[in-house]
Amino acid sequence: MKILKLPKDKLDYFASVVQQFGEVHAPVEQDGKYVFKRLTRWSEARLAYDRTILPPKKYFLPPKEPLLVYRPGEGYVAPAGDVQHRLVLFGVHACDVYALNILDLVFAGKYPDPYYQARRKNIAIIGIDCVPDGKCFCRSMRADFVDHGFDLFFCDIGGHYLTFVGSALGDDMVLATETLFETVSPADIDEYKRRSGAKHEAFQLDVEIRDLPEIFEMEYGSAIWDDLGAQCLSCGSCSAVCPTCYCFDMNDEAVLGSRAGTRSRNWDSCLFSTHALVAGGENFRESRSSRIKFRFYHKQRGFVAEYGRPSCVGCGRCITACPVDIDIVEVLAALRETRHAATH
Ligand code: SF4
Ligand code: SF4
Repeated sequence: MKILKLPKDKLDYFASVVQQFGEVHAPVEQDGKYVFKRLTRWSEARLAYDRTILPPKKYFLPPKEPLLVYRPGEGYVAPAGDVQHRLVLFGVHACDVYALNILDLVFAGKYPDPYYQARRKNIAIIGIDCVPDGKCFCRSMRADFVDHGFDLFFCDIGGHYLTFVGSALGDDMVLATETLFETVSPADIDEYKRRSGAKHEAFQLDVEIRDLPEIFEMEYGSAIWDDLGAQCLSCGSCSAVCPTCYCFDMNDEAVLGSRAGTRSRNWDSCLFSTHALVAGGENFRESRSSRIKFRFYHKQRGFVAEYGRPSCVGCGRCITACPVDIDIVEVLAALRETRHAATH
């Protein structure tokens, strides 16, 4: 991978040049929180942010997306959607890039999704390093560093950003800015390593994921799940903010009085009471405890069995979003620490 450096005082100019690669979106402050949105001017961008309310997932898997329209005489046709719209997401954290790599396993793997794949192709990603806060545990989930899934990735080394070039498009961005980027010196490498080590030590939360799927296997009947079910409101906030939750529902919206309509997919959540409701009225996960248990099992055990790693990246969003303070780190610690009374 090519590694260069960009002087920090040239970032504004670089940002103006990358506009030729697509509409630039970046984290913007809104009521004391951060959201990814289209910039009207570069000065709106906040690159030193903790986390955005919704992850970049919203660009690749929109909350509501028309998949086809049907009209008499035309049959089913693809809507004139925005999948070919070129965007540049500026300032994506490593955990969120990692989460997109996880979504790639689902939407660009065995069952490729053309809508997701088109967006992945047309949306450039410029990552930026971050400082962990009291809700981050991406180090534990091995998602505090990414080596693919982005076009450029910036790491603060003082007066410069050390820049990893992750794709041919990233290389084009570097070339378009001509002499802006510089060669990395041995002192830059030392500074990068010093800061990388300091970041590693700065995490306040730790989750031991070794043998976690096996612990889930053994704790299937734990009282923890009933306790969580008694607290959970089934609001679905944890799924909405999660960068790796991808469940969706399909709906047909017919135009009254005609034979035309639109089929769209909408974000769904396994926490919703209707998620496992099937024709005939059977509900496979009727209780709240069974639903929250399913969410944990899918992320920490089922996904590992299918793809070899948990689907949680440790971004901490679900901890921040839960109205009743259900904390994934505390749940995982409690599962590991539970002791069972001797029966003999
Ligand atoms: S489960 Fe929670 S911490 Fe893990 S990726 Fe999803 S929102 Fe982030
Ligand atoms: S955010 Fe909290 S209360 Fe809402 S569904 Fe998730 S765990 Fe339950």
